[in-house]
Amino acid sequence: MAFINENFLSLKENYLFIDIAKRLEAYRTANPDKTLIRMGIGDVTLPIAPAAVEAMKKGAEEMAHKETFRGYEDSGRGYPFMREAVAGYYKSFGVDIDPDEILISDGAKSDCGNIVDIFGENNTVLITDPAYPVYVDSNVMSGKNILYAASNEENGFAAMPDPNVDCDIIYLCSPNNPTGSVYTKEQLKVWVDYAKSKNAVIIFDSAYEAFIRDETLPRSIFAVDGARECAIEICSLSKTAGFTGMRCGYTVIPNELNAYTADGTAVSVSKIWRRRQGSKFNGVSYPVQCAAAAVFTEDGLRQTRSSIDYYMENARLMAETCDELGISYTGGKNSPYIWLKCPNGMGSWEFFDYLLNEIQVVGTPGEGFGPNGKGWFRLTAFGSHENTAEAMKRLKTLLKK
Ligand code: PLP
Repeated sequence: MAFINENFLSLKENYLFIDIAKRLEAYRTANPDKTLIRMGIGDVTLPIAPAAVEAMKKGAEEMAHKETFRGYEDSGRGYPFMREAVAGYYKSFGVDIDPDEILISDGAKSDCGNIVDIFGENNTVLITDPAYPVYVDSNVMSGKNILYAASNEENGFAAMPDPNVDCDIIYLCSPNNPTGSVYTKEQLKVWVDYAKSKNAVIIFDSAYEAFIRDETLPRSIFAVDGARECAIEICSLSKTAGFTGMRCGYTVIPNELNAYTADGTAVSVSKIWRRRQGSKFNGVSYPVQCAAAAVFTEDGLRQTRSSIDYYMENARLMAETCDELGISYTGGKNSPYIWLKCPNGMGSWEFFDYLLNEIQVVGTPGEGFGPNGKGWFRLTAFGSHENTAEAMKRLKTLLKK
């Protein structure tokens, strides 16, 4: 008999996007002449940078010739040219990482989920709520004990640790999806000190670091003293460079980082993660790594910056609209998400239906990201200027009534 991993039966059904799709379908059927403006989806819409496209074509061409063809990559950790490109990128914002500490992945979601494999079942995991769902789901799948740190209006949706709460693994995401909030260096230092006091490991998701405008805000947890002894950073080119359909990311595990056996013996996290990846992962395709490395060239960075500027102009307009309407929100200044308080005490789903029915604008109900999202709502800046401007115009007319 095949026995199922029963932890999977404890997963909550993720109804959020199914419910949204159902409501949209019903609305479209009843109102075939109405055009919806989609501001709920976290996927990018602009094409990847020409420098990356050229490098990918060149890489594909190399695969077509016997002399330059490549099969399996030796290490599965990423080609040295790609790991050096990422290290150079870190250096550009003042963080020193050895290329040997960087592992190239097929995106941040895989590594955020898979990293759970290397930590024992009896770890207690602390996750800020609301959160990107993979942190909770992958720990439920592996049967770990989960605690939540509330991100809410009072703390600016930037949960801070409670020294009286014990935990072993901590998930942080900054800039945050869904709330758009960004930890300051001082706040991250508090998390680092807390993690060190518990011998805990922080898993830091920096998938939106490229959207940070304010130079005083940290783009990496490794900008904080002491983080090398307690943190793993997981990042992605998905939002930085429009790679959602290309699949490439990177994970940094410092050589100093240890976790412990039950008898207290220190074990190198990097060594165990490499061992895990060596067994279960054969690396990212060569043409994709060529494209990804090109993102970090001068041309690549200039071109990707221009797409990010485009999205951030949408975010600015959304933030300005909330300011004008007196709506509380986080995000929008250093992140492509606006996380707003549903006006007039409405619930997340109530506001969803209200916007859909009255102005045909679609967002994401905050409670889909966890209990602290109740009464809040996420809008994304990944649409076109025209649609964003039209949506904001409709929102103003509706809420000023
Ligand atoms: N982390 C966060 C916070 C995200 O919002 C996303 C995607 O939306 C990811 C990771 C996943 O990125 P990737 O496309 O690299 O798997």
